[in-house]
Amino acid sequence: MPHLAFIGLGNMGGGMAANLVRAGIEVHAFDLSPEAMRRAADAGCKLSGSTAEAVADAGVVVTMLPAGEHVREVYEASVFGAAPASALLIDCSTIDVATARAVEGEAASRGYVMVDAPVSGGIAAAEAGTLTFMVGGSREGFDRAVPVLERMGRAVIHAGDAGAGQAAKICNNMLLGASMVATCEAFILARKLGLDPQVFFDISSQASGQNWSMTTYCPLPGVGPETPADRDYDGGFAAALMLKDLRLAMAAAEDAHAYTPMGARAADLYARFSDLGGSAKDFSAIIKMLDDTWRAPQAQP
Ligand code: NAD
Repeated sequence: MPHLAFIGLGNMGGGMAANLVRAGIEVHAFDLSPEAMRRAADAGCKLSGSTAEAVADAGVVVTMLPAGEHVREVYEASVFGAAPASALLIDCSTIDVATARAVEGEAASRGYVMVDAPVSGGIAAAEAGTLTFMVGGSREGFDRAVPVLERMGRAVIHAGDAGAGQAAKICNNMLLGASMVATCEAFILARKLGLDPQVFFDISSQASGQNWSMTTYCPLPGVGPETPADRDYDGGFAAALMLKDLRLAMAAAEDAHAYTPMGARAADLYARFSDLGGSAKDFSAIIKMLDDTWRAPQAQP
C-alpha cells in the first residue's frame, strides 16, 4: 500500500502526523527543522531527506506549512513531478485564497487531484485528533480526502471548489477576532458601570449578546469555563496567528471588494497588540491592551 508523505511537522503538523501513525498509516515525514524531525521520529514517522524523497511513490501528500509562499514553493519545487500523478494532494496550511487557487490550478493542469483543507482548532486539537477541516476542491478530491482527514479530526466539511476551505477559514476567524474584541469591550464597560463580571457573564451568556468568545472562551480569568485567561493567556491560539488570519481576511476582502470595517478594526487592534509584545499570548489577552483595569503590571503587553 502506498505511504503518506507529511511535509511540515511543526506545532500542528507534528500532532497530526502522530495521529496518522497511530491509525496504522505509514508516514514519510520531512521538515526543514531538525527538532521537528526528531519529534516526528519519536512519533513513529519514517524520516525522509527531502520533500521530493518523501513524496516519491506516495499515495497521499499532506502539507502543514506556515504561509502561502511556503506552500507555493514546496509544491512547485518538490511535489509537482516528484509525486506520482495518482497521489492525492492535501494542503492543510492556512494561506491566502488566491495562492490556494493558483496552486490547485497548477496541480490540476499537471493531472493531480488537490484540495485545500485548513483547520479550526489549535495545537491541543491537533494532538487529540479533534480538528475541524474545511475542504475546498472537487467532490472527488473531498471524497478521497475524508478517510485521511477523519484520522486527524472530528469534523470534515466540504466548503466548495478550490480555495473554498481557505475562504471559510478566514471568514470564520475574522468573525472570531471581531467578536473577541467586542466581548472584551463589553466586559470592560460592564465593570466600569459597576457590574460584577461573573454576573454579567451569567446574564449575557443567556441573552442576545451570547457568543463563543464569551461563553466558551471567556477572556477573563475566573469567569466561565477554564480558558487560556486562567493560565495567564498561555497556550490556546496565539495572537500572532489571529493577526495573520485577519490580514489574510483583509487581503481577500480587498480582492473581492467586500466592505469589512469590523474586520479591519480587529486587524488594526491585533497589529497594535503584537507591536506591544503580545504576539505569543493567546488572542484573548487583547483584553489587557484594551483596558487597564485587568492589566497586571508584570504581564503588560
Ligand atoms: P509551525 O511554524 O510550528 O510549523 C510549520 C513547519 O513547517 C515548521 O516546522 C517549519 O520548519 C516547516 N517548514 C517551513 N518551510 C518548509 C519547507 N520548505 N519544507 C519543509 N518544512 C518546512 O506552524 P504551525 O503552528 O504548525 O502552523 C502551521 C499552519 O497551521 C499555519 O498555516 C497556521 O496558520 C495554521 N494553523 C495553526 C494553528 C495553531 O494553533 N498553531 C491553528 C490553526 C491553523
